[in-house]
Order: sequence, then structure tokens, then C-alpha cells
Amino acid sequence: MCLIKLKNINFFYKNSGAGSTFELIAEDFSVAKGEFVSILGPNGSGKSTLLKIISGALKPLGGEVVIDKKHLKDFKPRSLAKKIAFVPQSAVSIFPYSVQEIVAMGRTPYTNLLGYESREDLRIIDETMDLLGISHLKNKGINEISGGESQRTYIARALVQQPEIILLDEPNAHLDIKHQFGIFNLLRELNHKKELTVIAVSHDLNLAGYYSQRALLMKNGRIFLDEEIANVLTAGNIKNVFDVDSEILPYSESNGVKVILRP
Ligand code: ADP
Repeated sequence: MCLIKLKNINFFYKNSGAGSTFELIAEDFSVAKGEFVSILGPNGSGKSTLLKIISGALKPLGGEVVIDKKHLKDFKPRSLAKKIAFVPQSAVSIFPYSVQEIVAMGRTPYTNLLGYESREDLRIIDETMDLLGISHLKNKGINEISGGESQRTYIARALVQQPEIILLDEPNAHLDIKHQFGIFNLLRELNHKKELTVIAVSHDLNLAGYYSQRALLMKNGRIFLDEEIANVLTAGNIKNVFDVDSEILPYSESNGVKVILRP
């Protein structure tokens, strides 16, 4: 079942540095329910921009984004928040909210008009903080914890939304290796057990090669390739898009691939 559909999208930033413009074009891109998709590509190729367009944070100049057969622009914020959760690259909070308060914000679409959380909301918040290993930090200020802990807090906030789709912008950027695997294992489990649709921008070709079924390779604001992961992570494509030599090894137990970079 097609859950996300982008048709004839075009978007541009007027001033993307040195007086230049950046244009993103995505003619036809769709994601089925329960897919695990990575968005790969060099810096500035448009990965975050594409993710923000899918989330509704950026409005395209032309074209349409359809989520579960309904135009993105027709969603009310509360119902959109039950469909899609977005984990930004690095969120900064100007207010000194605690970790627990930040996670609790993810339940806003479910709370009553007075904004009170039910016992069920509190249970979900506690359980999710446990799952992300941040319960011991719950009373700490969001600006008093490490980048990785903050990343896990924002992932927890997204998961308590109980969305059908989770969009993550470089979720592993601040995480140590143990937590990188922890987060990706959790995403894979939710993907398998609850059919959570995962779209993650990643710089780590090996995490993408291990966990995702499919990848988009972005180049200069265009979708250069959109195929199953083993067809995207080839030495030829990596050379073409990143200008780096590599060797690709298959996993015997899955369709994924390992990338050995040869700088
Ligand atoms: P990626 O995620 O692939 O690194 P982005 O989608 O963040 O790339 O950015 C694509 C291009 O758009 C880059 O050249 C970037 O400098 C530019 N850009 C990103 N955000 C803005 C903005 N808010 N205003 C102007 N230009 C931007």
C-alpha cells in the first residue's frame, strides 16, 4: 500500500550561499507502508530539504505530497502528527525544558483540550524513555545533556507520537557506536513488528547498507537513483556521487551490503 507519494515536486531556496540558488526536483517518489528507506548523498545534495518537504515543514513551490491518499496540505496538525513524526538533525530548545517535558510534547496530539496527559500517556512516555535509555536523565534540562542524549530524547519524542511514519535527519550524527546500533535495532524492530515506515537521512553507508531495504541517492538536488539498497550501494554509484573508491561485500544472511571505503 502506497503511504507517501511525491509528484512533480519543485522547490528552491533563493539564497543558498554566495548569492546562488538551490533547486530541488523530485518528479516521482513513493514509499509503501512498512518500508525502511535511506536517503544518501553528499553534503548539500538536498537530503534534508527532501525530508522536510515530506514532513510538511517546507512547502514545495509546485507539485504535491500525498500521505495515505490525502494531500499533506489538507491535514490538521494533530492528525498529521499522528501520521508523521520528524526527528531533526540537531534541535535546539531556547527554553530550559526537562528531558521528560520534551518527550511528553510528543503526546500533544493525544492529550485533552486542557493539555493534561492521561495515565496511558504517562505510561507511554515512561516506557519510551526506558527504551531509549534516558529515564535517568528525565529531570535534567535539555540543554544540560550531551548531543547523543539529546538525540535520543528527540527520537523518544517522535516515538511517543506513535506515528505511522518516522522521518529522521542523520539520527546517528551524535551517537556512539553502541547507541547507533541501539537506535537502528529499535527502528528495525518497530518496522518489523508494527509496520512503522522509516525514512532516514544518513551519512553512514554501512548503517544504511545493513538496515534499509531501499535507498535514494541524491545528487545536486535530484534523485539520482531510487532502488533496492544493493543496487544503490555499488562501487560505480559511490564513485559517481561521492567521488570515493570503495569495495562492496554482500551479507550472507540478508540482501544488505557492507561498504569498505578506499580513501
Ligand atoms: P543535505 O541535507 O544533502 O546536506 P540540504 O537539503 O540541507 O542538503 O541543503 C541543500 C542546499 O540548500 C545546500 O546548498 C544548502 O546550503 C542550501 N540550504 C539549506 N537550507 C537553506 C536555507 N534555509 N536557506 C537557503 N539555502 C539553504
